[in-house]
Amino acid sequence: MTDQEKAITVKTPEEIQVMYRANQIVAGVLQLLAQRVRPGLNTLQLDRWAEEYCRDHDGEPAFKGYRGFPGSLCVSVNEQVVHGIPSRKVVLREGDILSVDFGVRLNGFYGDAAVTLPVGSVSRRKEKLMRVTRESLDLAVQQVRVGNRISDISRGVQVHVEKNGFSVVRQFVGHGIGADLHESPEVPNYVQKVKSSPRIVEGMVLAIEPMVNAGTYKVKVLQDNWTVVTADGAPSAHFEHSVAATADGPLVLSALEETEA
Ligand code: MG
Repeated sequence: MTDQEKAITVKTPEEIQVMYRANQIVAGVLQLLAQRVRPGLNTLQLDRWAEEYCRDHDGEPAFKGYRGFPGSLCVSVNEQVVHGIPSRKVVLREGDILSVDFGVRLNGFYGDAAVTLPVGSVSRRKEKLMRVTRESLDLAVQQVRVGNRISDISRGVQVHVEKNGFSVVRQFVGHGIGADLHESPEVPNYVQKVKSSPRIVEGMVLAIEPMVNAGTYKVKVLQDNWTVVTADGAPSAHFEHSVAATADGPLVLSALEETEA
């Protein structure tokens, strides 16, 4: 067993149930934003709606103040990959794609998920980028099986993305999640050549989050020290689910379950 494997926390079924509830708030936020996003909105408005929904459901916005992040919601437009800061000055336009990433803390545990949304009608290239990224997440989720390795998840993303002519970001990766927002192990979206990859065990919970670029995989961080953009200015998409490894296979905690009001 490697040191990295030792540091991984395993959750009880009761803890996974709390994480499910945290992630259902996240999923509710993302659904709300998908319903409301349109040209002319600024991204600070989206942040306010997200935080309001979260608090109305007794959750705490997990990203607010995290390492000094100023918003509750990460909002990344077009060539922005992740960690965009909500702002009144960023106004959505027809044809943009918008990645929204939200985290919730509830009863001491975290939920974390993201989607990329079209603003009005978008180009076929952006449509394909969003579709392939979502598909790569779905394929990766299917690899969350006891006995598999984290690298099986990584391969699930990378093969599908590259087959479709896009690239996966190296510099930012998915992660374990639980009583901390970011736990071991790292969940890269590409297969690492040298590192030995941890085994997936029952009770592990992983935030799997392919970040997929239409052009080069290379990224840079803007002067605000948060916003990650593609190095070539080509668009980027991001989808994320929090997934528990169970004896029966993957359990997607952040897949929205419709309930009677
Ligand atoms: Mg995450």
